[in-house]
Amino acid sequence: MNSPKTIQRLFIANRGEIALRIARTAARLGLEVSSAYSSADGGLPHLRLCHKATPLEGDPARVYLDIGKVVAAAKKLGADAIHPGYGFLSENEEFAAAVESAGMKFVGPTPDQIASLGDKIHAREAALKFGVPIVPGKSNAVESLDDALAIAGKTGYPLLIKAAGGGGGRGMRIVREPSQLADALQRASSEARAAFGDPRVFIEKYIERARHVEIQILGDGLGRAISLGERECSVQRRHQKLIEESPAPALAPADARRMSELAARFGASLNYRGAGTMEFLVPSGTSEFYFIEINTRLQVEHPVTEMRTGLDLVEEQLTVAAGHGFSSRVSSASHANGGTWIYPQQNGHAIEARVIAEDAYNGFRPSCGKMTMVTLPSGPGIRVDGWAETGLTVSPYYDSLLAKVIAWGQDREEARTRLEFALRETHIHPVSNTAPFLAEIVSETAFKSGVYDTSLLSEPRGDKKRADENRLLALAGAELISSSERFASVEYVSRPLSSWQRA
Ligand code: ADP
Repeated sequence: MNSPKTIQRLFIANRGEIALRIARTAARLGLEVSSAYSSADGGLPHLRLCHKATPLEGDPARVYLDIGKVVAAAKKLGADAIHPGYGFLSENEEFAAAVESAGMKFVGPTPDQIASLGDKIHAREAALKFGVPIVPGKSNAVESLDDALAIAGKTGYPLLIKAAGGGGGRGMRIVREPSQLADALQRASSEARAAFGDPRVFIEKYIERARHVEIQILGDGLGRAISLGERECSVQRRHQKLIEESPAPALAPADARRMSELAARFGASLNYRGAGTMEFLVPSGTSEFYFIEINTRLQVEHPVTEMRTGLDLVEEQLTVAAGHGFSSRVSSASHANGGTWIYPQQNGHAIEARVIAEDAYNGFRPSCGKMTMVTLPSGPGIRVDGWAETGLTVSPYYDSLLAKVIAWGQDREEARTRLEFALRETHIHPVSNTAPFLAEIVSETAFKSGVYDTSLLSEPRGDKKRADENRLLALAGAELISSSERFASVEYVSRPLSSWQRA
């Protein structure tokens, strides 16, 4: 079936903060917006921006993954394009193909690109072929324990077993000596089978002290690609990002440019269509970088790039998906590949913190339940992308991201300070969340210095007194805003705040 020439009616195949984020741009562009929601999600805020919405019948934990139901809902609502957001079906080539064969545009790469780049083994091979350095290791699925021992003998220890179809830090095991290999292999493979329906794993050198730096690219699907700059994402727990910033503070600008240009050239060579992210590891204190994977979708942390470039990445995705190439702003900057590979307008510094429904002071234990009082920050340079609202319920079925607090400043310290105070102002009661913990992290010396790597959160961190203070204040704030005497209590809140002198 032929796809429509432009996009007029957009269906959002997602929920939570990203559905709201997409709906905002679609509404601003004058599109008719629709979506479908599980039985747990009838009150979500993005539905208020939808012209039409329909329930998705079935198990709320699985229904957003049901290709047949999602495509049928979009057709029923008369959509001519589907934006998959991130997670769920966003990197599923069968979904992208089903959308296209039902006569709609898929806002993302082609099904073939998703299939080949979504497989980490294929992506490594493609990068290597193009001349992008990859982490030392073997780009074959491990066939047996003997095979693994042979690869390990060449790669050396410590090494990392990774799932070919991996994501979200799952299916990964660090192996420090040969005796651990058999068990780690078995565990990684069965975790990968359970999470991704694909048991294939491969082996990479484990880079002990590394920074995660990624490049946002945009491809027009016609052979042009441009980098929108880098993001540093090394503040992680269990290999998952918590804070992202741009520019990468410990990367020399010349190295950042080198990575950006290489990523854009690589994307162009693939005829890449839409927004994508090339992820690299940078061994601490070096100018080297190694490719790890490509994410063929919009990333959670894309607002960091938007704050620096002034672009709207969802708008760029829609323009490309409609077949119009880049927007005129990006197009005039990129001007074919005789021109620049890097979008030139990148200003100031931006940092994002993920407010997740987890108790960071208790092993990041998940938290859920009804939010009886939500207060979110605002002010100069502050952007909040989130779905948390008083009266809504955090259910156990979905990703636990409640909101992203993003701060922009003319320099890193201005952005950092704005973020710290914005996080202190974030209260989501009584659901435990990462805001107070992240306020503490961004106020610590290691983060302030900008010189940190992915081991930051696994190391014992300094000031216990300060952490306790933060925890108490988070509790006090939550209690106060939930009481009926909010106005009378304002003075009491501001007193302890002023005693929080930064070290
Ligand atoms: P996923 O797709 O599950 O997110 P990635 O390949 O993107 O997996 O890696 C997630 C994180 O795991 C990285 O940001 C980094 O912290 C860590 N990691 C991945 N590969 C390596 C490696 N070879 N050495 C050290 N750390 C790694």
